[in-house]
Amino acid sequence: MGMNEREQLRCLLQLTDDAEIKRLFADAYQEKLRHVGNKVFFRGLIELSNICVKDCYYCGIRKSNLNVSRYLMEEEEIVECALWAHQNRYGSIVLQSGERRDPLFADLIERVVQTIKSRTDGKLGITLSLGEQNEEVYKRWFDAGAHRFLLRIETSSKNLYGKLHPPDHDFEKRKNCLLSLKKIGYQIGTGVMIGLPMQTIDDLVNDLFFFKEIDADMIGMGPYLVSNNTPLTKEFENSIMDNDEIYILSLKMIAVARLFLKDINIAATTALQALKYFGREEGLKCGANIIMPNITLNKYREQYQLYNNKPCLDENADICKSCLSNRVSSIGEVIGYDEWGDSPHFSKTKKQQVS
Ligand code: SAH
Ligand code: SF4
Repeated sequence: MGMNEREQLRCLLQLTDDAEIKRLFADAYQEKLRHVGNKVFFRGLIELSNICVKDCYYCGIRKSNLNVSRYLMEEEEIVECALWAHQNRYGSIVLQSGERRDPLFADLIERVVQTIKSRTDGKLGITLSLGEQNEEVYKRWFDAGAHRFLLRIETSSKNLYGKLHPPDHDFEKRKNCLLSLKKIGYQIGTGVMIGLPMQTIDDLVNDLFFFKEIDADMIGMGPYLVSNNTPLTKEFENSIMDNDEIYILSLKMIAVARLFLKDINIAATTALQALKYFGREEGLKCGANIIMPNITLNKYREQYQLYNNKPCLDENADICKSCLSNRVSSIGEVIGYDEWGDSPHFSKTKKQQVS
């Protein structure tokens, strides 16, 4: 009573009593059923390259990590993965990679998107997660047929952002990319890492307000996980939260995001599964409704490790598929096969614009 919204959110994220935490999760699940139902949408994730021009201090494939052997999938391999997703009735895919801003890369993505669109009769939905680009490139990829873009802000605290990145990585620039994407007509997904060194509960509360302000259609949040050979590890070995704590905090963020933002899509990320075998299913029970099964060709998976202990490294897309559908039915949810699964949030705003 009398608490403002900000205080309420802070309070929920700080719950320590098991019964209260359980109630938060149950409330969030009910809110999810009300707004988006019990249907889970799959977005097949294709990690098409680990070549990256950036040097984020937390990331395993940052440019300066010389222990990584770099790859770029063949165009035909990327298309084959996409066709596998389509044949297996996944409504959409995500093309993700390290960041490259050269014209050859822009051309490659444009061609690949066009090819996938034409070979699936325009049916397969395409989300891109390819980092910061100029507006012209974003527009070309949109015109080629991509309709969603995932670009995490990583943290909405400009100050913390500065500590997690080299000086030439710019918070405002990243935020402006989200605005450009929105303007062009993409459905935008953003998100943050949870449990970052130096991150406070107030930072997380501000993250939720950032999602609202930027009017995100999709949120992908997950725990920050240590990656060997990165600067963040060496510097903060002793100040990183323990895994159980980060895990619960991540689930709380999903739950609170569902209660606060209601009709958007929220992903249960692979990073959750890296901490707990049933992490993604628990994410679904706390309010998430999207899963991004990895459908990258096996031979590349090991080289795309953003953090330690990435799950399913030695599995292929077929195994992932049957494992996942069992997991989803085990918690009483259904899979939205052959559907794009746009968030009701996006569908509503679109209708408003048309009328
Ligand atoms: N290069 C693109 C897309 C690939 S990285 C980009 O940065 O947008 C995708 C996401 O992986 C990043 O947004 C970041 O949130 C996440 N990530 C990177 N390193 C991580 C780590 N150590 N723990 C958890 N998530 C990490
Ligand atoms: Fe590159 Fe993305 Fe990793 Fe940053 S988070 S180093 S941009 S792959």
